[in-house]
Amino acid sequence: MAANNFDFVVIGAGIVGLAMANRIRQIHPNATIAVFDKETSVGEHASGRNSGVLHAGFYYSPDSLKAALTRDGNKLLRDFCAEENIRVNETGKVVVAQNSSEVTALQELHRRGNSNGVITELVSPEQLAELEPLAKTSELALWSPNTAVANPLEVTQALANKVIREGTTLKLGHEVLRTAQNRIVTNLGNYSVGHIINCAGLYADKIAKPFGFCDDYAMLPFKGLYWYGNWAPGKLQRHVYPVPDVRNPFLGVHLTVTIDGRAKIGPTAIPIFSRESYAGFVGLSAKEILNIVGIYPKFLASKHHDVLGLIKSEMPKYSQRHLVTQAKALVPSVDPKDFKERGKPGIRAQLLDIKNKKLEMDFVVRGDEGSTHLLNAVSPAWTSALAMANHVCQKFD
Ligand SMILES: Cc1cc2nc3c(=O)[nH]c(=O)nc-3n(C[C@H](O)[C@H](O)[C@H](O)COP(=O)(O)OP(=O)(O)OC[C@H]3O[C@@H](n4cnc5c(N)ncnc54)[C@H](O)[C@@H]3O)c2cc1C
Repeated sequence: MAANNFDFVVIGAGIVGLAMANRIRQIHPNATIAVFDKETSVGEHASGRNSGVLHAGFYYSPDSLKAALTRDGNKLLRDFCAEENIRVNETGKVVVAQNSSEVTALQELHRRGNSNGVITELVSPEQLAELEPLAKTSELALWSPNTAVANPLEVTQALANKVIREGTTLKLGHEVLRTAQNRIVTNLGNYSVGHIINCAGLYADKIAKPFGFCDDYAMLPFKGLYWYGNWAPGKLQRHVYPVPDVRNPFLGVHLTVTIDGRAKIGPTAIPIFSRESYAGFVGLSAKEILNIVGIYPKFLASKHHDVLGLIKSEMPKYSQRHLVTQAKALVPSVDPKDFKERGKPGIRAQLLDIKNKKLEMDFVVRGDEGSTHLLNAVSPAWTSALAMANHVCQKFD
């Protein structure tokens, strides 16, 4: 084998790219496989910067990829963690209603859980008090026993170690600059490739466009900020979520419990104008700002989303006090002075369907015999990754 020649090249060493490499190895034990990432370590972006929640899969419309792949991915990720001795904290999760008008939505989530083959239970405020004494609800709450949490970076790193152990080449610090059918150009050399698999997260649209697989989408990044509490580990026992606004692909500000039992508030879904602007001026790109700002006038006219409402409700969440105060509606004992430790922010690689002016709600998989593109790998793609790889790699069987 020439070192610059691979049967399969995966672009992106996040959880999705690594899951793809892992699955291809199972199908083709003797194939030459490489994973390229522009960063010098794995999980530098969404896969190492998320809440680490193993979602159960009850939110999603039964006909979506998200529904089946999250249910199955939850199980596969648990099995992987068990094999690799990675801790999973079996927190479960409660979804609480802030007023009686949200109860119908809770019942709909319960119905979706049933349709998706995911266990959920509608519980009374008294039952909620037993499950999570700190949470408050109106009339009913939804209990999800199969939601859990792990350390997302630890899981991503363990998957990288596994694929390397099994013979895949990990090429860190290699930025893919250009692609063509069966060829990639990186900052550190050119490669011939049998099949290209694009799992580039915030840049997946850019990689897909020259192949003609993403002309109908534009990338709109949304930033997720977090604040850790100073509460004793274990004080909050369950993840506590609000009823989501079904018009948006985001779940609303919630409280999660980390693998170490700490309470954490977030993430936000603040619209931003550069794909990797995690803090201050770092990661800002004038070209990206112009591009993304240029998309907003089209998005503002959306009949599917209350875009101005979304902007007005998200922008104030840059304020720690404002964001933390919102969580009081779910857990009244939350006090902004107890949640002052900033968490590592993450950025969602959310696609906008340009023609329909609609945020894409589902995972999108496109490709042909020369390339495959995993687009809109937004939450819960960390949970779904192993199931998504099984689904997508059927074409390589
Ligand atoms: C704030 C936040 C909270 C979330 N919480 C959860 C959660 O609790 N549970 C859950 O299931 N999901 C959650 N998600 C979603 C989850 O994190 C993502 O869906 C998942 O990590 C996507 O993985 P990925 O591999 O597609 O992307 P990434 O992890 O972003 O990986 C893409 C990789 O591609 C590389 N890359 C990009 N361009 C190039 C190039 N040109 N050349 C080489 N390499 C390139 C990048 O460096 C990066 O490493 C959350 C996301 C965010 C942002």
